[in-house]
Amino acid sequence: GARGHCPRCDGARLFAAWLRPVAQCPACAQDWRGHSADDFPPYVAILITGHVMAPVIIALGLHTTLSWPVMMGVCLTMTVTMVLGLLQPAKGAVIALQWWLGLH
Ligand SMILES: [Zn+2]
Repeated sequence: GARGHCPRCDGARLFAAWLRPVAQCPACAQDWRGHSADDFPPYVAILITGHVMAPVIIALGLHTTLSWPVMMGVCLTMTVTMVLGLLQPAKGAVIALQWWLGLH
């Protein structure tokens, strides 16, 4: 699921668009319409990003002489990129977990 593949068969893509899962797997016919990940994928993406970015921000503040606008630009760019990059894997993993636990 985190790789964007069908959690049941790994034979087809799980997402029809960036965060929209396919209605049904074209390889194994698993119906994905009953899975609603809701707010959990953004929570996971923000949690991971926060734990990675906090030490980076502290290290940049302690060991560099960057001006605050440059530091804001660097940190905001890294944070937004990381959150957006983690959203789809987090949603795929949540859908896979829901499917594995029979929560559909
Ligand atoms: Zn499948």
